[in-house]
Amino acid sequence: MERTLAILKPDCVRKNLTGKVLQHIIDAGFKIVGMKMISLTPDTAGGFYDVHRERHFFTDLVVYMSSGPCIPLILEKENAIADLRTLMGATDPREAEEGTLRKLYAESKEQNIIHGSDSPESADKEISYFFSGREIVSLTR
Ligand code: ATP
Ligand code: MG
Repeated sequence: MERTLAILKPDCVRKNLTGKVLQHIIDAGFKIVGMKMISLTPDTAGGFYDVHRERHFFTDLVVYMSSGPCIPLILEKENAIADLRTLMGATDPREAEEGTLRKLYAESKEQNIIHGSDSPESADKEISYFFSGREIVSLTR
């Protein structure tokens, strides 16, 4: 079973979309095996998006991601990484497919409500950025 890291970003929490987005994810067959609510600091937000450090939008991205509480999630499913990216839709909601989370709820390319890992390597790295082994539940017990 594959795991991916999602984050319900600060705009998702602020706009009271948490319940709707979680239900959408659960209805699509994902199991939640890790979940917490935290406020990122500019440093922890910047560390998470370190690959984008040289991009023009990096400063705005850090301000946005540290603007309020967010909800990191570990999601489990066959093909979880690609399937979550499909469920999320394109980075820019104007380009996202109908029915995707970003098309339904996101306001702009900058503020797009949800993050999802883009490869097995980033999923492993991102899961351990937010969760220790003890914070991941086993669904077989
Ligand atoms: P995420 O990594 O959050 O799942 P993504 O993989 O769809 O999103 P990335 O290219 O990794 O997109 O960009 C990370 C985040 O940085 C985007 O989700 C968005 O919030 C912001 N971002 C990306 N491109 C731009 C841009 N051109 N202008 C402003 N913000 C941007
Ligand atoms: Mg990305």
